[in-house]
Amino acid sequence: QAKVLKRGRATLFSEDLSAAARERIRMLTDLRVAFSAERLFLAYQPQVDLISGKVLGAEALLRWQTDDGRSIPPDKFIPLAEQSGLTVPIGEWVLRTACRHLKRLTDLGHVTFRMAINVSHTQFREPGFVPALGRAVHDCQVDPGQLELELTESVAIGHIDSTTAKIQEIRRMGISVAMDDFGTGYSSLSVLKQLNVDRLKVDRSFVKEIGEDGDATGIAELVIALGHQLHLVTIAEGVEQEEQRRQLLKMGCQEGQGYLFGRPMPAKEFEAWLAAQR
Ligand code: C2E
Ligand code: MG
Ligand code: MG
Ligand code: MG
Repeated sequence: QAKVLKRGRATLFSEDLSAAARERIRMLTDLRVAFSAERLFLAYQPQVDLISGKVLGAEALLRWQTDDGRSIPPDKFIPLAEQSGLTVPIGEWVLRTACRHLKRLTDLGHVTFRMAINVSHTQFREPGFVPALGRAVHDCQVDPGQLELELTESVAIGHIDSTTAKIQEIRRMGISVAMDDFGTGYSSLSVLKQLNVDRLKVDRSFVKEIGEDGDATGIAELVIALGHQLHLVTIAEGVEQEEQRRQLLKMGCQEGQGYLFGRPMPAKEFEAWLAAQR
């Protein structure tokens, strides 16, 4: 009886697995096609000063528009790109596209506008990353002081010294660095201190709980206090309600990003939105 059950389960499991594998291969083919057919695009979400509401910049967020009009979120296909060698070409495309848009916004008069770009750990560790960054800045003629890279804690795992060195190299180019999704990964407080970044992003999961009475209110507060301790600017992501903005301000958080201020918007829409803010 037990044996039959076991075998039944094993079969079921391997069938599931192959279905998942088939789905993965299909999606990967689709992603390659989408990339070459320019079906990937960037959406821009405002980052604001929490006190004045003034727009400080935007985060560039990758989108995949499928033929049937669906939009696949990055969480679904970035891991796939990671496993397939597409990380570097897609990452470079993101870098150059965001830089071109930054140049355009600067030409329109937004001369202090900051463009934040997400960089995956694989892309960051690539030996060609810093040179590619330099080329993008040079070719697009952007001010490096208007660029920011968002890294997650995972970049540092097992590579703390080389990561620290690379971050400092990037900061010497005039580009700032933010620690994204802080508190959701595995790195310790001392790692954050050693990495020596400019900005600390308070993860959406901690902001979400503010106003409800969970532990996360405490975590958001701790992350913000840590930021102060290390002389970092803190920015909260996923701010949806006025009450969250108020609480975050009280905790000493300086900047925010979230639906309360603006959703991620395609380039043209973002440009119009930005013009209307003036
Ligand atoms: P992230 O860098 O933490 O980006 C913030 C995410 O929170 C975005 O999701 C954004 O749309 C979402 N968000 C912002 N405000 C709110 C809010 O008020 N409410 C809610 N519910 N959500 C909000 P998105 O665009 O789906 O991106 C997910 C993740 O994918 C990003 O998290 C980032 O880690 C990654 N990603 C996005 N673009 C790129 C890229 O170009 N390269 C790499 N390597 N990763 C990227
Ligand atoms: Mg980010
Ligand atoms: Mg984040
Ligand atoms: Mg996040």
